[in-house]
Amino acid sequence: MIIGLTGGIGSGKSAVSKCFEKLGVQVVDADIVAREVVETGRPALKAIAGHFGHDILTPEGQLNRAALRSIIFADENQRKWLESLLHPLIREEIISQLKEGNAPYSILSSPLLLETDQHTMVERILVVDVPIETQIERTCQRDNNSKEQVESIIKAQSSREFKQQKADDIILNTGTIEALQKEVSTLHQRYLELSQNEQKNHHR
Ligand code: ADP
Repeated sequence: MIIGLTGGIGSGKSAVSKCFEKLGVQVVDADIVAREVVETGRPALKAIAGHFGHDILTPEGQLNRAALRSIIFADENQRKWLESLLHPLIREEIISQLKEGNAPYSILSSPLLLETDQHTMVERILVVDVPIETQIERTCQRDNNSKEQVESIIKAQSSREFKQQKADDIILNTGTIEALQKEVSTLHQRYLELSQNEQKNHHR
């Protein structure tokens, strides 16, 4: 069984992931996978350098993310080209990493779970939720961004209400990290039970 974990920037996806990992649950992070598929030596990086030219690489041969970002920010067609290259590769890599685990269930954490076809890879959706003020405060502290920068990122993301509507489970992350760990432990028990039931149904 795969549980999809999502939430807006600064809502606590990483914090929730850590809580699950403490309980021994495998977490695949779509953001990390997205970086892995363009690492040096990967076919995607070759394709990107072929398309945009070698100026898109740093002298060390790594992807120059800032340069790429400014190109796709200015040009919708280039953004589409890049997405059509990367999305299937990211999806494939996520599937292969999820297959490595043979635990009763795993977590797929992604900020774009509900906005891409990634939600089709999961059986259940867990949303980590906080009020926008908390999102802004925690993100500013973490990233050293201005309040305005964080607000514009939040505006570009899907709304809190949209994510709440899609959720099977919601964690309200307004308490301490200890309280969060406790909530995750409760969910963990529930997911273990659900995954057992699912297996039984599967064998019937
Ligand atoms: P996301 O991965 O959703 O962007 P994070 O898990 O990185 O969010 O959380 C954003 C910031 O808030 C991090 O610095 C994290 O340590 C902090 N944080 C998360 N949950 C809590 C909490 N319950 N109490 C205090 N700080 C928290």
